[in-house]
Amino acid sequence: MPYTTTSPTSGNAVRELDARHHLHPFTDTQALNRKGARVITRAEGVYVWDSEGNQLIDGMAGLWCVNIGYGRQELIDAASSQMQVLPYYNTFFQSTHEPVTQLAQTIAEITPGDLNRVFFANSGSEAIDTVIRMVRHYWTLKGKPYRMLLIARENAYHGSTLAGASLGGMGHMHRQCAPMLPGIHRIGQPYWYGEADGLSEDEFGLKRARELEEKILEVGPDNVAAFIGEPIQGAGGVIVPPRTYWPEIQRICRKYDVLLVADEVICGFGRTGQWFGCQTYDFQPDIMSMAKGLSSGYLPISAVAVGDRIADVLTEHGGDFNHGFTYSGHPAAAAVALENIRLLREEGVIESVASDTGPYLQAKLREVVGEHPICGHIEGTGLIAGLALVKDRKNRTVFDEDVGTICRDECTKAGLIARACGNRIVLSPPLVIRREEIDEMVDRLRIALDRTYEQVSNLSAA
Ligand SMILES: *Cc1c(COP(=O)(O)O)cnc(C)c1O
Repeated sequence: MPYTTTSPTSGNAVRELDARHHLHPFTDTQALNRKGARVITRAEGVYVWDSEGNQLIDGMAGLWCVNIGYGRQELIDAASSQMQVLPYYNTFFQSTHEPVTQLAQTIAEITPGDLNRVFFANSGSEAIDTVIRMVRHYWTLKGKPYRMLLIARENAYHGSTLAGASLGGMGHMHRQCAPMLPGIHRIGQPYWYGEADGLSEDEFGLKRARELEEKILEVGPDNVAAFIGEPIQGAGGVIVPPRTYWPEIQRICRKYDVLLVADEVICGFGRTGQWFGCQTYDFQPDIMSMAKGLSSGYLPISAVAVGDRIADVLTEHGGDFNHGFTYSGHPAAAAVALENIRLLREEGVIESVASDTGPYLQAKLREVVGEHPICGHIEGTGLIAGLALVKDRKNRTVFDEDVGTICRDECTKAGLIARACGNRIVLSPPLVIRREEIDEMVDRLRIALDRTYEQVSNLSAA
């Protein structure tokens, strides 16, 4: 019998196998096995269903990726017809195929500036590894092999391979796999609400950007290869930078000839109301990594778009670039990405995020939960938002307990998939979400916040 999901076994049977054989990512397996994993059985539009028949609104678009929503037949057909013609071929040994060339051209078209050449991989982490390999190779070709340091930020997320985890600023990841990759330096994050200490947003944005200049001067301008950052930090809890931040970062990178890399894995493909986060935040990267929304998660694929200045050096004087993946430019994944981009364009999805659903979500959140006793602050733009859970709104004090997890579990009980990043609750729904569905999502969030508030009040009373 071929494997099929149309007559699924019971949730309990799946949970039992899961507990016995499956090691989950970013999970305390023992704790998970005590309660059993939630078995997701199907999805449609912005909703998913579990094995107990519960309908949940997917406030996280899977893992920040299902931008086009679930159940799009066009993407299924694109994969299926490509697989019938050519299910796989590599792009290593002087061969290519049509879907990968079309996708490279399309990415060159939708990205801003002169990001005209594209390298493919399968995940955001692999794209980030590629960026590191590429910028170091570039400087070596330019006769400056000592220009190899990378500067990134606290609380950044750049994936989970050794290089991605090293570049990211997540202490809990570093602690489990030290020693990390050498040659990485870090500056503070532009988290105004949590760290501004009385400065205005604009002042704070400039202050945090200027830490980059201090760091460059500290390690020596001629030793720095690149600065890398997410336009909005996603896994860090949806940290929206002040308006002044990115233009100043760009000015500093240009001044010291440091390559500017935008990690667009979450912000890319419409999340902030433009194709890419750098357009929303007004800067032009030299290199851009993308993944998640590129195929709306239907198949794994990622890409690195490279500006002419760099691509010319790599191609004209580079010889072989000794890097690549078996599935770089996988034909079925490329076909799905192409179809995904076509739908985003044709249906005006990103325009709706910019002018309709994005502003609507942001306003609705502030209206319905903005004054909630445990909501300290809401930040976001387009269809991405982060909410700070606080014990005391006036002094912005955070809870000692893990209230994020309590709240996330209450969201699930209320029929909403949200994510907790420490004491921040984040939302990033499919970009095709409609106003009524936004209302429903925010109402469910409100119920979860009420119940969380009850629980923490009991905690402190006990
Ligand atoms: C998710 C993410 C990555 C890693 O992508 P994977 O596909 O999980 O390897 C890298 N950068 C950012 C900004 C991300 O959000």
